[in-house]
Amino acid sequence: MAFTRATGKHRAPGRLTRTGAKAVGIATLATTGVIGGLASPALAADTGTPAVGDTGLTQVIAIENVLAERIDAQADAQQHQADVAEKKAEAAAKKKAEAKKKAEAKAKAAAKAKAKAKAARAEEARESAVRAARSAERTRLGSFQLPVAGSYVSTGYKSSGSMWSSGSHSGIDFHAASGSSVVAVGAGTVVEAGWGGAYGNNIVLRMTDGTYTQYGHLSSIGVSVGQSVGAGRQIGLSGSTGNSTGPHLHFEARTTPSYGSDMDPVAYLRAHGVSV
Ligand SMILES: [Zn+2]
Repeated sequence: MAFTRATGKHRAPGRLTRTGAKAVGIATLATTGVIGGLASPALAADTGTPAVGDTGLTQVIAIENVLAERIDAQADAQQHQADVAEKKAEAAAKKKAEAKKKAEAKAKAAAKAKAKAKAARAEEARESAVRAARSAERTRLGSFQLPVAGSYVSTGYKSSGSMWSSGSHSGIDFHAASGSSVVAVGAGTVVEAGWGGAYGNNIVLRMTDGTYTQYGHLSSIGVSVGQSVGAGRQIGLSGSTGNSTGPHLHFEARTTPSYGSDMDPVAYLRAHGVSV
């Protein structure tokens, strides 16, 4: 790739040897009288001086030196151009390699992110399927379950707030977007289904063990009083009716059908084998 040249190729002593040899040749020419015809105009102008042999030779050698210098300069310039071109090519190659490396890293990162997203989606689908299967199994066995599948408690029992007439929460709130399926936590009979004042649309079930459960702020009610329901049977859809600041399910466990007979709903559900 690199165009290298030994430094001083055109310089002394090589040049001296060459010019010396040429000088001998010119001297030979001079003695035969041919020099006058071959010389440059500058040389020709000197042909009139007496010491033609000496001055002619001196000038020939001087011109030889000038030519050699020019060749040197030309070679240097060419070498410089070659060096510059080589450096440019190297820089371009380096830039290209860096760009390639960058593009490869970018592609790798994109592929990784894609795989991660796919794995997350698969995990989500798997968890959803597990939840549904667990819920179906609990329904089949007639065992207790969460009133909103896969939900969690967003406001705890007995938490204080101006929202509640008693000054504290008589139940627990389950996180639920409006329209989520609300199911009977266990088998029972509908004893109340309708408007419940601050509870909005609400349902009260008498469970087979004699306890009661209540479901409030529903957007719609799907059962009527006297109806028997199995565990996991959908009884309505969640909403934000009554004294509510947003969609959720208010759930209570009671010893009687009436407000004020509440017990800890989390302890109640856990006692019935529900993980909450
Ligand atoms: Zn509540």
